[in-house]
Amino acid sequence: MNNAAFEIDEAEKRRLLGELLAGRLPDDRGRFGPFGGRFVPEVLVPALDRLEEHARAALADERYHAELASLQRNWVGRPTPLCQAPRLSELWGADIWLKREELAHTGAHKINNALGQALIAKRMGAKRVVAETGAGQHGVASAAACARVGLPCVVYMGAVDVERQQPNVVRMERLGAEVRAVESGDATLRAAIDEALRHWAGDPIDTHYLLGSSVGPHPFPWLVRELQAVIGRETREQMLDQAGRLPDVAIAAVGGGSNAIGFFHGFLADEAVSIVGIEAGGTGAAIGQNAATIATGEPGVLHGSMSLLLQDENGQVQETSSISAGLDYPGVGPEHAFLRLVGRVSYRSITDNEAMEALDACSRMEGILPAVEPSHALAGARTIATERPGATIVVNLCGRGDKDMPILMRHWGQR
Ligand SMILES: *Cc1c(COP(=O)(O)O)cnc(C)c1O
Repeated sequence: MNNAAFEIDEAEKRRLLGELLAGRLPDDRGRFGPFGGRFVPEVLVPALDRLEEHARAALADERYHAELASLQRNWVGRPTPLCQAPRLSELWGADIWLKREELAHTGAHKINNALGQALIAKRMGAKRVVAETGAGQHGVASAAACARVGLPCVVYMGAVDVERQQPNVVRMERLGAEVRAVESGDATLRAAIDEALRHWAGDPIDTHYLLGSSVGPHPFPWLVRELQAVIGRETREQMLDQAGRLPDVAIAAVGGGSNAIGFFHGFLADEAVSIVGIEAGGTGAAIGQNAATIATGEPGVLHGSMSLLLQDENGQVQETSSISAGLDYPGVGPEHAFLRLVGRVSYRSITDNEAMEALDACSRMEGILPAVEPSHALAGARTIATERPGATIVVNLCGRGDKDMPILMRHWGQR
């Protein structure tokens, strides 16, 4: 941590981690230690309170879980498989396992959260759902989930992204969503989140805001984590069943942090399991060249919560850069900032080129073309394999690469 106010001693680290493992974090103010909370205009507080109340009731209700479990099985395709990666293991000198989250409906983990929240929105009596999207993956998952539960869906997307991600715009529209281009601010994901929050603040009873990552004001980081925790629960059970042991290392890519936090929660209580989050190292360590928020960010508030943030000395949010749209965000979920603070999870950066090499290796060796985001986690596994030869490493393969064709064509040259 780069700010003295956020430094704590070993005893306090142990105490805070104990609180988390006991299920007492976030606390009643929505805080994970110094991170999280609600930094929002007054008009949003009743909507957040109401959402928390309904979400807690749903997550404590057997009927909600029965409906969610049935849809997860038959519509999403859960449990997603865990598979050993024999040829990558031989190439990299470790025992590599892949959690096949890319096989979930719509091609990534995002559907876990979108479906869980869409069902809650329905229970709350919402008449429509609004969502934000960057590259379009969360917009597609939200559009699909809303179609399934029968709710209209409005997706805010930065005008720049609408231009860059035409196939996903068409996909959302075919799934029945209305895509609204946001021209304000940076006209990308940050502006889209601002606009979706504004819409929700103006119509908090009839609208549910389906936020796509473990970021934003409380209760979102908690709710999204609870809905993504299915990844970690399945992986832990599958490791014990198929490998006969827990992994030495569990590793996932961190954008806002939702796939990683859901995956990590399966192993937080297992002290022998090292947990590693991988951030986008972009093209280099200088400001503006990466999206490595935990590595170089400072405490600050973005989108309603206190976390680490890429900002300059005046608190202006920095430009970010990553080959992966899903990791290209200047903030990070507050629970990741917390896990770094208490020392339970370590975070590292992987550059664009390292990720693309790992994408290529996984595709050629295992017949699986991963998305660019989890390719960062794969490259992290490769690095850790050199430090801990023979270690058993499980990687959350959180998305498939089909969406990344334009990037792959640019990177390797279009034939
Ligand atoms: C959106 C996305 C991410 C980044 O989001 P998190 O909330 O950090 O998980 C990572 N991988 C894929 C495949 C995505 O679609």
